Amino acid sequence: MKKRMEAYLRVLCEEIGARPTGSEANRTAVEYVCEELKRSGLRISKQEFDCMDWSKEEGTLTVEKHKIPIAPAPYSLPCDLQGELICVHSLEELRTAPISGKIVVLCDALASEPLMPKSFIFWNPDEHKEIISLLENSGVKAVLTVSLSKECLLPVIEDGDFTVPCAMVLPEHVPLLCTGSLASLTLNTVRRPAKAANILAAYGSGKQKICLSAHIDTQPGTPGALDNASGVAVLLAVAAKLSGRELPCQIEFVLFNGEDYYSTPGEMLYLNTSLTHPDEYLCAFNIDGAGVKGKHTAYSFYECPQNLMESLTDLALKTGDFEQIEPWPQGDHTLFSFSGIPAIAITSEGIFELTDHVLHTESDTLEWIDREKLEVLVDFLLDAICKIA
Ligand SMILES: [Zn+2]
Repeated sequence: MKKRMEAYLRVLCEEIGARPTGSEANRTAVEYVCEELKRSGLRISKQEFDCMDWSKEEGTLTVEKHKIPIAPAPYSLPCDLQGELICVHSLEELRTAPISGKIVVLCDALASEPLMPKSFIFWNPDEHKEIISLLENSGVKAVLTVSLSKECLLPVIEDGDFTVPCAMVLPEHVPLLCTGSLASLTLNTVRRPAKAANILAAYGSGKQKICLSAHIDTQPGTPGALDNASGVAVLLAVAAKLSGRELPCQIEFVLFNGEDYYSTPGEMLYLNTSLTHPDEYLCAFNIDGAGVKGKHTAYSFYECPQNLMESLTDLALKTGDFEQIEPWPQGDHTLFSFSGIPAIAITSEGIFELTDHVLHTESDTLEWIDREKLEVLVDFLLDAICKIA
């Protein structure tokens, strides 16, 4: 078993590597996981959808002969243009500023939080929609957003449906971006139409099911070990160990494709096609960020009845090295809980401290992963399934 877990992790993170939704590598990862699930005797189906394969090379920004380091915002359109800069600091200012034909720099209040993608319907504040609409409909040539971090370039706009070329700059370079200065901006990016798919795999039969899910996609440029090869590997290992067991209900494995893609297309498809009968689900376990070395495995409950929480807490105590944490409102477990299905999110204690400098970067490697913890999690899930079924 140990050898198998190691092989899953190595193939996903090292042989395949970054596997963003829409990329060739993503399709390779989907094929690999399908083959492994088939080997374990599961019935496989795929939910295919349209998306975009986005790639980038360097971008350049020159302002009055100064070269300023930038990077294209994720999913940005390409461009090669000149224009006058205009710095805008608030929504009120954006409503009246003469931005037409210019390169708009979003500063201060306009660059204080990520703006929701246009297609994101669950939570999309009116101000976000208005900012995006003003930028798209005022003849703006390009947008520069000041990074949300001082140390690295974090996007304010991450939206493959945004119709204006967009790049990110560090706060330290803002003094060089004066209103009225002439700038040249080149962004070498490509948006290609592509396909991707969720994987659904079923073990056993019965009207009711227990769901185990993990997302298979990554951000571009990261090996995605914690986010989320470990979750995928755990699902594969559970599937392999289920082989031959008689259960009174069905076990559904879902490999979501799009957790780290701007419009979460795989999640939306599953929500609209598979989650239409929430009463079929006994509960759902979502695994994301599991197996950090030196940290407890962390679990949290969403919409779970008392007896389920007690029974799983009991099991967690018996297994050891588990810790209950406060629920958090992001990630694929919310798809289930919003549909009224009891959900359990499994991750690692302190995972949020790794956001930005490990997760979604090239540092998210297998170095972080304690294989032993993943094996323990596999056995925990098998025990949980038997208890709940
Ligand atoms: Zn993730």
